[in-house]
Amino acid sequence: MTRRQLRSRRYAAAVGVACAMGLLGAFPAGAESAIPPSGAGDPYFPLAGNQGYDVQNYDLDLDFTPATHALAAEATIAARATKELSRFNLDYSGPAIERILVDGRPATYTRDGQELTVVPAKHIPRGRAFTVQVWYRGTPQPIDVPDLGVYGWINTDDGAVALNEPDGARSWYPVNDDVRDKATYTFRITTPNGVTALANGERQGEPRVVGDRTTVTWAMRQPMSSYLSMVAIGAFKVTDGRVGPLPNITAYDPAGEDGTDLQATTAEAVRWEQERFGRYPFGSTGGIIDRVGVDYALETQSRPVYDGKPDELTVVHELAHQWYGDSVSPKTWADIWLNEGFATYAEWLWQEDHGGPSVQSTFDELYANPADSAFWDVKTADPGRENIFDYQAIYLRGGMTLHALRTAIGDEDFFSLLRVWSAKYRYGNVSTQDLRHLAESISGKDLKPLFDAWLYTAAKPATAG
Ligand SMILES: [Zn+2]
Repeated sequence: MTRRQLRSRRYAAAVGVACAMGLLGAFPAGAESAIPPSGAGDPYFPLAGNQGYDVQNYDLDLDFTPATHALAAEATIAARATKELSRFNLDYSGPAIERILVDGRPATYTRDGQELTVVPAKHIPRGRAFTVQVWYRGTPQPIDVPDLGVYGWINTDDGAVALNEPDGARSWYPVNDDVRDKATYTFRITTPNGVTALANGERQGEPRVVGDRTTVTWAMRQPMSSYLSMVAIGAFKVTDGRVGPLPNITAYDPAGEDGTDLQATTAEAVRWEQERFGRYPFGSTGGIIDRVGVDYALETQSRPVYDGKPDELTVVHELAHQWYGDSVSPKTWADIWLNEGFATYAEWLWQEDHGGPSVQSTFDELYANPADSAFWDVKTADPGRENIFDYQAIYLRGGMTLHALRTAIGDEDFFSLLRVWSAKYRYGNVSTQDLRHLAESISGKDLKPLFDAWLYTAAKPATAG
């Protein structure tokens, strides 16, 4: 079973035996005093993220010219030291750095691959809040990796769009690229007059025009993982609507297909999802249709980005991620099924509710894949880095796992679980074990055998629930 339109960061072609052990071995263990290691410990992305500090806020001042794709930027990072720091690392593979200040004093720095090592003039004591300012200038480039595709900063015909999943934020700003280090964001975007600049969250005040350039400010006030941060710059037709009290800001590129529908489809999906998943977690919603050329949509926080006009199920999927993925995020990429399984299950529930096939028949059709089929070849939890966007293992079998869980614990406990999961872990990070423990506490059942069979075994489960 395949769908024509790719849905949120999936590449279905990669099927193979999961193998993350080599990467595990590459993670540097231990640390000298006051020198934290250069990764946060994710086995799939051992260099991503850093230790020794916790970011509170990113303030990104981006001056961008679409005609030349030239960026002049200042990133101000407000962080708190979690240990004494004689130096610290940021993830960064963007354009040339001009200078760095730590707490207003010049700092020295070195770059090596994606690691930016900053040495402040004075040690930063444990527990101290500190500010890093980085000035940089040039043309950011996307990241293009086999199995993960093209992501990060992507220059377009009329501007640029940033789609960071999984570790693309470093292509356009210095970042603690650890899915667990959520922070608030302010985006101050300056462009030639007449260009539209969008980002996560809500606009702050009116655009400021100085000569032939306009600055618009957006802010994401709820905690956000860096892989969900987004800007979209170019020609856009913007609609400001509402879903109840919630601002619904949608936009589409007028050079592409007419995207007027996105406003109404987004409103309908958010309304329907709030009834099932609980309170919408962010201060606004919406969506952006651009011509990006990557063939996927991404659930960027509060405002997904669609590469071309999406079908209704894609909108339902990306907006379901606002609860499952964006607000409640995995602790490690090995648990990405917690994002994609829930968003896929939301599609199935929506279809059943809107005259399509029942969830049970969707499940049955997939479960009919024979035991020797490649459909069952990759584990759903801990699938290996090369398989994190595997459509069958992560999306479809992730959704099937939730249906097997529903069959085991019953509708009442299952739909309660969906709501408690999104409320209890709002703005937090979770693991598969957290889900099992919550499901067990709600249902009073031992669910280890079910989780083992559906998530940790690369084989067809013997029973459907
Ligand atoms: Zn998705």
